[in-house]
Amino acid sequence: MKNNNIFSPKKKKSSGSKKALTVLMACVIVFGGVKVVSATTQFFKEQQAIKLEEKRKEEEAKALAEKKRKEEEEKKKYMVGVRNDAKKYSYDAVKVAEKLASFDYSNNGEKIVFLTFDDGTSTTVTPEVLRILKENDVKATFFVTGENIERGGEKAKDLLKEELNNGHAIANHSWSHDYKKLYPNRTLDLDAFLADFKKTDDLLKDTLGKYFSTRVIRCPGGHMSWRGMDALDSYLEENNMASIDWNALNKDAEGRKKNADQLAEEAIKTSEGKEMVVLLMHDTYGKEETAKALPKIIKYYKDNGYEFKTLA
Ligand SMILES: [Zn+2]
Repeated sequence: MKNNNIFSPKKKKSSGSKKALTVLMACVIVFGGVKVVSATTQFFKEQQAIKLEEKRKEEEAKALAEKKRKEEEEKKKYMVGVRNDAKKYSYDAVKVAEKLASFDYSNNGEKIVFLTFDDGTSTTVTPEVLRILKENDVKATFFVTGENIERGGEKAKDLLKEELNNGHAIANHSWSHDYKKLYPNRTLDLDAFLADFKKTDDLLKDTLGKYFSTRVIRCPGGHMSWRGMDALDSYLEENNMASIDWNALNKDAEGRKKNADQLAEEAIKTSEGKEMVVLLMHDTYGKEETAKALPKIIKYYKDNGYEFKTLA
């Protein structure tokens, strides 16, 4: 009994603490469970955030790559002086300009010739020049004047396109070719000069497409002929452009009128002994004899191991 008395309350006590323990346990389980659940939720949230971040970065990288690809595509469309598939015929015009300015006509033992035609395009002589160049599979550089292209209308513009499409180089020879306007008192007026050349640049873009530009110019009358050209030289240098004169000519624009044989003779005579030849000719109105002389001139350079290059 005593024991009972002793144990009974203890028993009672024991059953009470068991309940408490159970409640506690339940609490632990419930709260623990909640904790586990909330920890799990947190874990998944974090994982989701990481995944979202990864996805975002992936998409960002994709967009950047796409942007770069488009930029590359865009870059490929740009043409400087020549079609991109005709770059293999072209030569750095800045280097040629430097060589001409220092009267250095050497080229490491390799002969190169630049056939250049000024004052076109004309609807009379240019088609013949293009035909002969094609027939002989050689490339040339056309220093065109805007005014003459405008004068020749759609036909002249088509010839300009043909020049580019046939792998030749197109360069700017001013709009007006007007000495008084470009060089009043024989001295360069840079603003007038640049405005005049820009007009032709715009026409070239209108005709050949917005991706076309040229960094090669030829000063009407020749860079060598005028005063105050330092201002132009600074401008050209700043813009990575080149002004190209010549070191040989067929003399189709000076002295008395010559026939095809005489023109070829002049071209050959002025080319002799030069590894690098920049030959001045004209494909404008009235220069039919220039076209007629061309096969003979091309033959001379071929026979003498010259490679035909364009200025770009
Ligand atoms: Zn000219």
